[in-house]
Amino acid sequence: MKKFLFICFIFITTFITTFVFTLGKGKHIVVLDPGHGGSDSGIVIGGHIEKYIDLKLSEIIGEKLSKNENIKVIYTREGDVDDSIKSREIFANNGNGNLFVSIHCGSYLTDKNFGVVYLLNENDIDVSSADLLEGNIGDKTIKFFPFKIAGYYFLPKSENIATSMQNSLNSFYNSYLIKKPIHLKLRVLENIVMPGILIEVCNLNSESFTEDDKWYDSISDVISNEIIKFFSEQNKNE
Ligand SMILES: [Zn+2]
Repeated sequence: MKKFLFICFIFITTFITTFVFTLGKGKHIVVLDPGHGGSDSGIVIGGHIEKYIDLKLSEIIGEKLSKNENIKVIYTREGDVDDSIKSREIFANNGNGNLFVSIHCGSYLTDKNFGVVYLLNENDIDVSSADLLEGNIGDKTIKFFPFKIAGYYFLPKSENIATSMQNSLNSFYNSYLIKKPIHLKLRVLENIVMPGILIEVCNLNSESFTEDDKWYDSISDVISNEIIKFFSEQNKNE
């Protein structure tokens, strides 16, 4: 029964997503996930406190995205509050998000400043093949993943935005240390029923990093433009 319910669940989600993208009428829902918050400050280094940067940048990205009439933005965290990963993913899934973007800062043992994009790694799927289900939608055979690893189901789409986002961050920082997005087992991306990426938007350990309005404005342009591009390319391909 559980498996049957899961198939129904994924089928309905796939149907809704396809329907919305095909018609291009419904709004694309972006879930912005500002990292940390409350008692969890994230990285604290050189006067920078990550939880505040994550929140402020998410708000600016959200404001820019909201100017696009086809996009609706929801936030997993508003204000300086503690939010568990579980509550973030429930919020994202209940909000019928079409894309999940978690905003963080990095800290690396180099003075260079750069951004890194993370996404799940298919090899980390912690489930036996017996748990994988197959079903048909029209003449297509589709594999269904159990809900506990739903994020892996959307990995190809996550890979599209992750690659493009990494390239744009590299151009922005004029740094090519990170050639490709990094695949990692990230708990916050595993249970979400939508494509998802986590961005470390800067290296807080770099002395060249300045947390000023100019930086917020230009990095938020890079990220919001990539999100808009992701949806417009999906509209073309669906
Ligand atoms: Zn973080």
